[in-house]
Amino acid sequence: MICLGIESTAHTFGIGIVDEKGKVLANVKDAYTTESGGIIPTEASDHHVNVCDVVLRNALEKAKISLADVDLITYSQSPGIGHTLRIGAFVARSLASQLRKPIVGVNHAIAHLEIGRLRTNAKDPILLYASGANTQVIAYHNKKYRVFGESLDIGVGNFLDSFARHIGLGFPGGPKIYELSLQSKKFIELPYVVKGMDVSFGGLLTHTKRKFDSGECSKEDLSFSIQETVFAMLVEVSERALAHTRKNELVLGGGVACNIRLREMCEKMCDDRGAQCYCPENEFLVDNGAMIAWLGVLKYQNQGGEKISDCVIKPYERTDDVEVTWYKD
Ligand code: AMP
Ligand code: MG
Repeated sequence: MICLGIESTAHTFGIGIVDEKGKVLANVKDAYTTESGGIIPTEASDHHVNVCDVVLRNALEKAKISLADVDLITYSQSPGIGHTLRIGAFVARSLASQLRKPIVGVNHAIAHLEIGRLRTNAKDPILLYASGANTQVIAYHNKKYRVFGESLDIGVGNFLDSFARHIGLGFPGGPKIYELSLQSKKFIELPYVVKGMDVSFGGLLTHTKRKFDSGECSKEDLSFSIQETVFAMLVEVSERALAHTRKNELVLGGGVACNIRLREMCEKMCDDRGAQCYCPENEFLVDNGAMIAWLGVLKYQNQGGEKISDCVIKPYERTDDVEVTWYKD
């Protein structure tokens, strides 16, 4: 079976093609970027409309197949920006009806977890999902992926991007903050906000912006200290989720997991408690079509296809709203 998956929850329009064993035949994407400021939903959806046919053609070429070889169409149905989700769903519905092939919609956060399990040896992990808009610690329990902890306000990537924008760096800011952090070893004490199993970045953002504006701290020292602080918050909550669930595998997902310092800190924590830390390749950490295609395969094999008229978008669906039928306990 060959499955074509479409990702369009935010800035990225991606198409992945995988087979039923999880072999990735293609994973092509085109991301909307801005010179300054964040994502403007209407501009991002225009971007997706403009690139969707080229991305599709490139993915088919890469996979060395034609549309007629595709057996299943899947798309990211949730959660995300309504404007951009709608483009992916529209392309998916058009392909499914034109090709007369089954279609299923899938949850983007769960796709990050499943591609992590596919690309690593992790069997029953905790996922630290650290991306632009989302920050969650997720694990399977009793037919659902449960959220054990999450950000109470913005995602960790948005936090890094907002601070980076404030100090004059462009988008995406995460990699630029990492580069700056390498030029400092001076740790500045910053608010460390863990509330139970949840984290929060809003107050920290205001605080660090003020520290920068007052001229008290250099951007290198702040970049270093920001990383040490927010990553420690994420590691603390992930460790507590491991202890609570008695699981012994941590999988990283989301674009912020491209950060080498975050990986080092997660690996150290896992080493210290005898757990394994897994991180898929960068192309599967950021938003991508292959993870959507793979989750589509899993869902379809257990639940079958969906009516085209039911293939709507669910911008606000939560990870723990989804019943998980494919997981072998
Ligand atoms: P996603 O939403 O999962 O596609 O991830 C995008 C986010 O990942 C953006 O907020 C980026 O700033 C962030 N990001 C990408 N690479 C890095 C990195 N090396 N360090 C920190 N953040 C990163
Ligand atoms: Mg994502």
